[in-house]
Amino acid sequence: MNTKTSLPSAHAELTYDVIVLGSGAAGFAAAVTASCRGLKVLLVEKTEAFGGTSAISGGAVWLHDTDQARAAGHCLPAEQMRRYLKEVIGSGYNPQLIDAFIEHGREALRYLETQSELKYSLRPLSPDYYPDLPGGTQTGRALEIDEYDGRHLGEHFKDLKRPPDGMLLFGGMMVNRVDIQHFLSFKRSPKSLWHCLKLIGRYAVDRLNHPRGTRLTVGNALIARLATTALAKGVDLWLQATPEALIVEQGSVKGVQISRRGTTHSVLARGGVVLAMGGFAAGAQAAEQRPSTDSEHWSMSPPANVGDGQRLAASVNAAIGDNLSANFFWAPVSVLHKSDGSVERFPHLVTDRAKPGVIAVNRAGRRFVNESNSYHCFVEAMFANGGANAP
Ligand SMILES: Cc1cc2nc3c(=O)[nH]c(=O)nc-3n(C[C@H](O)[C@H](O)[C@H](O)COP(=O)(O)OP(=O)(O)OC[C@H]3O[C@@H](n4cnc5c(N)ncnc54)[C@H](O)[C@@H]3O)c2cc1C
Repeated sequence: MNTKTSLPSAHAELTYDVIVLGSGAAGFAAAVTASCRGLKVLLVEKTEAFGGTSAISGGAVWLHDTDQARAAGHCLPAEQMRRYLKEVIGSGYNPQLIDAFIEHGREALRYLETQSELKYSLRPLSPDYYPDLPGGTQTGRALEIDEYDGRHLGEHFKDLKRPPDGMLLFGGMMVNRVDIQHFLSFKRSPKSLWHCLKLIGRYAVDRLNHPRGTRLTVGNALIARLATTALAKGVDLWLQATPEALIVEQGSVKGVQISRRGTTHSVLARGGVVLAMGGFAAGAQAAEQRPSTDSEHWSMSPPANVGDGQRLAASVNAAIGDNLSANFFWAPVSVLHKSDGSVERFPHLVTDRAKPGVIAVNRAGRRFVNESNSYHCFVEAMFANGGANAP
């Protein structure tokens, strides 16, 4: 892949208004937005399942002054957000980008919530990643996705990316922040016991007809919500399809050559092509850029995210901006070697590592970090300690 090609329009097999490459939250948000405006959209996914990293993520968003925050009485001034981001980003702070984020975040979310199945709620308590910095808050910015019924996806439910087993209970049941609290308290609280019994009952019925529970939470709920709308609006979803090259005519992108089931299709886009193929953590370029340690690096990023989007963009002379304060978002990851020989990765985000009673030590047995720091800071401290991984 990754070379640009020219093709006369007359040779094209198919024409859409918009072609979106990648089926994560970015790709689906673009596909939903375009289809809601009456455009004909093709969504192309390289793997056999749609959802990408987004489907295995927490599904939370972090925005300034949303309708949900206002309704809960948290009207934080824009200047407070600017101050916080200046502190976090440092010299890479770009006022135009930050102002666009501050001014249009609410509008973008409101549009998607009005036009699609998307539905977010304010997290009652959700400290910023650097809550002690000027401008940081304990609540008012982080929203979590509402649970969703995967049965709305109909036959497409089977194609939604399944979270890793370590994130599922009983081999296929999803839970969210509230559910986890109930599972931790069910021995003490009749209300929690009832909540857990209802979840398990629903899950048991689900398993009569489905390979896993259909009550979706976190990132799976985010993708299922967007995908339900996209598919209902007539977006064509191609799985296991690989974009080979952008079709370029007279200096502008006109479409994409896509390989699917052994055939190469030349697909034209009247409006444009959206590159939403995720990050590059699983690619060779990322391995070169990571700080080196003496232990193997394990990423939660799906293996398909090797930077195809960046390479396609580079083929038409796009470039990654410089002066970035960080090019990676770190999380400590445990590796589970299963009896069938497979390996599973589990991220220590918020449910365990930051709790009272947890102490992280380096190989010398010395504490090296505030365990309740954000996962990004935690891994920065690991790097500063030469990896700090358990042998
Ligand atoms: C465990 C975990 C929890 C997280 N929690 C949060 C959270 O709560 N909030 C938050 O904001 N962020 C969170 N993140 C980060 C967040 O998930 C990602 O930043 C986000 O999902 C990226 O979305 P995306 O649409 O850009 O990429 P992705 O969701 O990765 O989607 C990219 C898609 O493109 C496909 N693709 C790749 N190459 C090609 C190709 N050549 N052709 C076609 N398709 C291709 C991939 O297979 C994939 O399906 C979390 C990440 C992890 C790992």
